[in-house]
Amino acid sequence: LSEARLPGMRIVVVGAGAIGASVAHATARAGAQVTIVERLFPGSGTTAATFATLGALAQTPRSFHELHLRGIEAHERLARELGGSWLHLDGALFWEADREKGDVLGEAVRQERAWGAPFEDLQPARVRELEPDVAIDRSVRVVHRAPRDGWIGGVELASAAVSAAVERRGARLVTGTVVAASPDGVRLDDGRSYAADVVVNAAGPDAERIARLAGQSLALGRIVGAVVVSEPAPVRLRHVLKTTATRLRPDGGGRILFYGEHFGARAGDGAHEAPDPQLGGAAISAATDVLPGLASVRAEAVRVGIRAEPVDGLPIVGRGTACDWLYHVVTRSGITLAAILGELVATDLSGRATDLHAFRPDRASLAVRAER
Ligand SMILES: Cc1cc2nc3c(=O)[nH]c(=O)nc-3n(C[C@H](O)[C@H](O)[C@H](O)COP(=O)(O)OP(=O)(O)OC[C@H]3O[C@@H](n4cnc5c(N)ncnc54)[C@H](O)[C@@H]3O)c2cc1C
Repeated sequence: LSEARLPGMRIVVVGAGAIGASVAHATARAGAQVTIVERLFPGSGTTAATFATLGALAQTPRSFHELHLRGIEAHERLARELGGSWLHLDGALFWEADREKGDVLGEAVRQERAWGAPFEDLQPARVRELEPDVAIDRSVRVVHRAPRDGWIGGVELASAAVSAAVERRGARLVTGTVVAASPDGVRLDDGRSYAADVVVNAAGPDAERIARLAGQSLALGRIVGAVVVSEPAPVRLRHVLKTTATRLRPDGGGRILFYGEHFGARAGDGAHEAPDPQLGGAAISAATDVLPGLASVRAEAVRVGIRAEPVDGLPIVGRGTACDWLYHVVTRSGITLAAILGELVATDLSGRATDLHAFRPDRASLAVRAER
């Protein structure tokens, strides 16, 4: 674990999603006086409406790929420390029935191995031993297995990290909405205010709004996405499964969670607006080829979540330009990266060296404007 020391530093963390919760835990652990301000409850934002898988496949450039691999290790450390059952590292299986897509996947896997990610090539017969309820098209010759990939329960993680920060490290959790921020601290919509030496902006898709409170702008896009969750299903499944046709994973309680890049396309820009009413059924029926046991299973819910996407695709981690009191931490792949970013932010705030230089808010590829 990081050797960060932050005795006496007053930190207000805005947002208790996977990232804010992890930052709050790591900084409180390092001795900071941490106040977490969360609008609803820990994990209630995008962290509650995500596919939440852990993996590094096809993440580039190499520094970002490495951060993903370190992210999984950091989750293991955090799980050992926090306890609970939010981390599931049973591996992921990737395959393609289409030959051309299979070649592209094979190339991506070769790149993974070259960059140090563990990958196994399995015969479909071996997969049937590992996952007896999974059906693989006869044309498929090889299935790639990432043995250390997995998924997390995002709300459980956020809740466990915030509880540990509060109960073991003296942090406080405040329910409310930050509407003003300054070098003195933050003010909430009901007039309460909290003093801080550093305000950490971990507001996820609302990070741009928090930046603007300090006259700053982050080059951040908001992309609406969605996942579908089934009712409890009569299938056995431990791995995350990814093919072009479908991506799914177990979600606890016998439920299966489905994700597709197009799922959020017809939702409005609001987490409570329903996308296409046919989506749930369509997501499950598209998966019955690989999990035939889903044939008569219905969708229980569609969850709409908003991704914060820095325009150059890389995390934004560090103090705002010309602003030493506001520290941003916002990224895509925020589930995979939550635990490692918590460690790195604590180390960074303590003044010790980190390798966060590629992810600073003032990098040229972002061209963050400081308007103060
Ligand atoms: C459909 C979908 C699939 C995804 N799949 C994956 C995946 O497989 N793997 C992966 O790693 N990532 C995935 N992601 C991305 C990942 O879910 C996010 O990067 C991550 O959840 C972001 O966490 P966060 O803590 O930054 O944001 P959030 O979870 O949104 O947390 C921000 C918190 O800030 C609070 N807040 C905001 N403004 C204020 C304010 N003014 N005052 C007080 N509180 C405030 C909100 O209430 C919220 O709880 C996916 C995202 C989506 C939408």
